[in-house]
Amino acid sequence: MHTGSVPKKRKQPHKPRRVQRSKVGAPKLLGESVISGFFSSELRWTDPLFAVEQQRQGRPVDDLIGIADHLNDQPVAVSEQLPFFALTELTRATKTLRSVCLLVRSGYGPQALVLARTIFESALSVVWALKHPEDTDKRIDYHRRLALTVEAEAWKQSGIAKLDSSPKPPLSATERAQAEKWFGKRGTGQWSGHKSLQEFVKAVVDSQIDDAGVMNSAGLWFSFAFTLMLGWADRMTHTTGIATWNSMLPVPDGAVVGEFSNGPSKHDLTQALMLGADAYTVVLDALLPLLNPSLVPDLEAAGARRWRSLKEIDRLTSMKPDDPCICDRPQGAWAECHGPTDEFADHELEQRALADFRRAQRTARTAAGTVQ
Ligand SMILES: [Zn+2]
Repeated sequence: MHTGSVPKKRKQPHKPRRVQRSKVGAPKLLGESVISGFFSSELRWTDPLFAVEQQRQGRPVDDLIGIADHLNDQPVAVSEQLPFFALTELTRATKTLRSVCLLVRSGYGPQALVLARTIFESALSVVWALKHPEDTDKRIDYHRRLALTVEAEAWKQSGIAKLDSSPKPPLSATERAQAEKWFGKRGTGQWSGHKSLQEFVKAVVDSQIDDAGVMNSAGLWFSFAFTLMLGWADRMTHTTGIATWNSMLPVPDGAVVGEFSNGPSKHDLTQALMLGADAYTVVLDALLPLLNPSLVPDLEAAGARRWRSLKEIDRLTSMKPDDPCICDRPQGAWAECHGPTDEFADHELEQRALADFRRAQRTARTAAGTVQ
């Protein structure tokens, strides 16, 4: 036991350390070992230009959350088309998107991606629930009670716990048999009854094809997001080569000593906002017509601002009506394709971003010695 007689080592005040990586040449020896890097809490992780870009990207996501805030204090009623589950899942998705925004603004992109992943599942679940409203609430109730029952049995078997998580009311034998059929013996399957997330995604995508064989925008988004965006998030949720590499600050060419950043960084911030906001847009797009159709135009306006926030500011603000559109699938000139997003733009923020971009360009040119 510590008696207190040993004088404590005086604590040094914390000093953020900046490794002079550009000066690092050959590996240095520490005793018998080669130094591989330094741990640090990188506090100067952002710069003015990046901060403005972040603000540009974050503002339309705030607008999305603002739409949900407009639903506050309005009475809502479940119906044959609107299961109770859709309301609780909207609430969960809103809280998660708020958390994603907090993490992104603080510079924790990989951690925000892990959370954004759950909004993808919320979107999937809400769309499926609205397609199958008749048994959604029953499945969710059984899913919850089976999980609690299995947990209560595990507590009992462990012999170390006094906790009892048994659901009230308990599952009857018939209910349990049905629940196990839907979700597996341990209740680990999807609430929808699909065996895996992949199977669930496929079913939702297939359900978004109309009688003429045309897939709607939600189906296209799920298909694309599952193969690309969920990959980003999965790589951060599990221990992967990319996840562990992204805990480092970028190492300049030729440097051999890295910086293990315990603090914020620029990694994955855009990706986390993109996955979170896109998935949340799908949730609102499915529910607003049922909850408050007058908010649908606000969702479209927020979507237009979000689209603009992901485009390079100098190109976006210099577009002329006849220029080819800068979107991925141009449908003609700017004026006919994405030009109408001008109407919803936050022009003040865009002009500030443009000024900062130009200032950063001038600074870079001066540093490179190209300005006389
Ligand atoms: Zn376009």
